[in-house]
Amino acid sequence: MIYNTLGKTGLKVSRLGFGTMRLPTGYSNADINEAEATKMFDYAIENGINIFDTAFPYHNATLAGNGNGEIFLGKYFKENNLRDEVILQTKSPTWFISEKNDFESFLDMQLEKLQTDYLDVYLLHSLNASGWNKVKNLGVMDFLDDCLSSGKVKHVGFSAHVGLDLLTEILDEYPKWEVVLTQMNYLDEYYQSGADGLQYLKKNDVGTMIMEPLRGGRLINHVPEEVTVLWGISEVERTPVEWAFQYLWNRDDVDCVLSGMSSLNQVKENIRYASHEDVISEYDQELINDVARQYKASTLGNECTKCGYCMPCPNGVDIINCFNEYNIAQMMKDPKASAMQYFSVIDRGSRADSCHKCEECLPLCTQHMNIPEELEKVREYFGTEFNHF
Ligand code: SF4
Ligand code: SF4
Repeated sequence: MIYNTLGKTGLKVSRLGFGTMRLPTGYSNADINEAEATKMFDYAIENGINIFDTAFPYHNATLAGNGNGEIFLGKYFKENNLRDEVILQTKSPTWFISEKNDFESFLDMQLEKLQTDYLDVYLLHSLNASGWNKVKNLGVMDFLDDCLSSGKVKHVGFSAHVGLDLLTEILDEYPKWEVVLTQMNYLDEYYQSGADGLQYLKKNDVGTMIMEPLRGGRLINHVPEEVTVLWGISEVERTPVEWAFQYLWNRDDVDCVLSGMSSLNQVKENIRYASHEDVISEYDQELINDVARQYKASTLGNECTKCGYCMPCPNGVDIINCFNEYNIAQMMKDPKASAMQYFSVIDRGSRADSCHKCEECLPLCTQHMNIPEELEKVREYFGTEFNHF
């Protein structure tokens, strides 16, 4: 495993971090397959991963409330006596905060779930302009000061899917930020705060963590033929997953890449990539740029990363799968096969035509999409009945 210094925290972090949003589950998202997840954590720790990231809602049945992810992590680290051996990071559910005392109530609840009396890193989760203004007005900076001085939290930061202006505004308003989690992959250099944001963080010695390194799986699933041909031009053979990770690890402004791993095989594969130096040559960087251009030219789908923050829809629309099938359809260019998938994977009542355009999901999309408008495109593409013969 290769380790980097996480900005001014001074922490030595494995450059591959274990994101725990997509642990293996049974029937529901809340039902973590603990036996399998335990094997994954055991292997990860034995092979050098030392940072684990979770959040209040992870592995809740609806992704909107109190999840089982923190509970599983707490149990695992306690039973294996590993709490002090790892860097544990979780996040304050800023959308649930409505008064100042809530900050501390949630932190205490999270410490209890995690069976620990301190967090190595505590992030304000998914800040946007209104969320930042709200927590600021409720005294979040005093709360963070108190957390640091009491020792409940060692380092503070935030996660955000925002543009450069807001990112720098938040950074400049509180001098004690030490870690920021932002979205980055080779399709997103100019998206949200992108590469400029990472450079700004680096310049200010703020530790950088990356989410969506595979863009919700888009960079590795159903890879278009044109992209496969381009990868084949390189003298170095890499899998699509490896290209995506090495692109990030070769940047001097990336300290740690969080990967939301779902199987032991993924853990093994990702650790293999994270454990050897692999320099991306100038030629290969050009190739990556060509691949990014190819993706953008060949996919007319939308930007959904399957993060799930918009779910559940009050009208039962399965937003993630509607967009997933639509995006695959755009890449595969096989309308009939895609339509068969769409109508078999998604139940009647959960398809795009069930959207009532109530707009409750509008402020929730991390990719700032107009979800009802995008669902209308899905409805137009697939129709309401399977008659694609
Ligand atoms: S706009 Fe459509 S998808 Fe969004 S919450 Fe309302 S019904 Fe659900
Ligand atoms: S529509 Fe937006 S919020 Fe919903 S899963 Fe996709 S990216 Fe996430």
